[in-house]
Amino acid sequence: MKIAIVGTGYVGLVTGSCFAEMGTDVTCIDTNTDKIEGLKKGVIPIFEPGLDEIVARNIAAGRLHFTTSLAECINDVEVLFIAVGTPPQEDGSSDLQHVLAVAKNIGQHIEKYLLVVNKSTVPVGTAQKVRQTIVAELAARNKNIEFDLASNPEFLKEGDAVNDFMRPDRVVVGVDSERAKNLITQLYNPFMFVNFRILFMDIPSAEMTKYAANAMLATRVSFMNDIANLCDLLGANVNMVRQGIGSDSRIGSKFLYAGCGYGGSCFPKDVKALIQTAKEKKYNMQILSAVEAINFEQKKVVFNKLHQHFNGSLHGKTIAIWGLAFKPQTDDIREATSLTIIQLLLDAGCKINAYDFAAIQEVKHIFGDKINYTDNMLEATQNADALLLITEWKEFRMPNWEQIKNQMNTHVVVDGRNIYNRDQLTEMGFTYYGIGQ
Ligand code: NAD
Repeated sequence: MKIAIVGTGYVGLVTGSCFAEMGTDVTCIDTNTDKIEGLKKGVIPIFEPGLDEIVARNIAAGRLHFTTSLAECINDVEVLFIAVGTPPQEDGSSDLQHVLAVAKNIGQHIEKYLLVVNKSTVPVGTAQKVRQTIVAELAARNKNIEFDLASNPEFLKEGDAVNDFMRPDRVVVGVDSERAKNLITQLYNPFMFVNFRILFMDIPSAEMTKYAANAMLATRVSFMNDIANLCDLLGANVNMVRQGIGSDSRIGSKFLYAGCGYGGSCFPKDVKALIQTAKEKKYNMQILSAVEAINFEQKKVVFNKLHQHFNGSLHGKTIAIWGLAFKPQTDDIREATSLTIIQLLLDAGCKINAYDFAAIQEVKHIFGDKINYTDNMLEATQNADALLLITEWKEFRMPNWEQIKNQMNTHVVVDGRNIYNRDQLTEMGFTYYGIGQ
């Protein structure tokens, strides 16, 4: 089968290369000329483990192509995915301009039947708007060409995206025609060898499922952070509480870690968009408003602990930061907690030594030379008055504490992800702060 993917970002590039890996002929389309020219030469624009390998293999096999022109390939394919960005607008609602621009482009160039599958995260009712946009363009051309729409929200996690796409827990698909259902089944069949995990439903339910999933995950994070903050005040340990409740099969142990807040390109914007969708229907999503408010405050918790430790006198202190990406295994810093903390430290007059395995270039675009970037984790702690762990990359798990202690000025560690052992660090002479411990 021949397909096209419009939007070659985290979702589009992973989707395209994974379908190609299963034998499908895929053309990835993007308006960003530099990105497409780079990809043609095998330059991967994002850090995503395993992706470079499958992109290279499928380019070499002649199954993965890149272009900036939708018109060039639309009539060669049976299925076209939309995987462009849907960033938040000022009021939190989802900005659909890129999705609708693609719909317009489809309507202007389609000459034969096409299944249009929306993979971008979009509010309920967007498929309807895509349909209307295509129909309006066809009417302007005086054409009557059959097409179907489907909604196939994506659940991959950055940092483990290839694995998630290759072995999905489930594939959610909203359809309203048998033809669309059959095409989607054919396309995803190679991923379903062990058991069939496509959940077909109506289109609005599929659109809603994506928001409900992210809202639920964000809720678990904010709930545990709220519990952790209370543990701090009461002298309980959230790590124990997590194990105590996670072993209840009704609750489950995943996504129960307290920390310094969630970030990324999805949770913050999807929670906001769902609140806004509800508002448009005059419904108040009280839980999600609280989830967002808790997360806003939680991003400051590491700074607040540091501030309290130094009795508010942070001016002139040198602070080491380990981890800048919004989570490990990615270079994505959209809405990352590190950005909030860096700004608070700069406002307080601190000097910052920051290290991250993948995200330094991205942070440089925001803070430039206002902070010092180091080539490795140890260099960041040189003459530091405190060390802040913000993103739990694996290389931070078992550092050489002896060496770190010898080169720090004062021995304070604020562990924003609860990965260190308080007793061990205290015994070594560090002052340790975790979250909810
Ligand atoms: P991204 O910003 O990484 O990529 C979007 C790409 O679309 C960009 O390369 C941009 O140049 C391109 N684009 C914009 N308008 C275009 C047009 N008219 N024609 C062709 N290309 C165009 O975004 P992303 O992170 O891949 O997210 C895409 C969608 O998937 C969003 O709705 C997002 O919410 C959703 N999603 C993202 C993730 C994730 O982890 N990143 C996971 C699940 C779902």
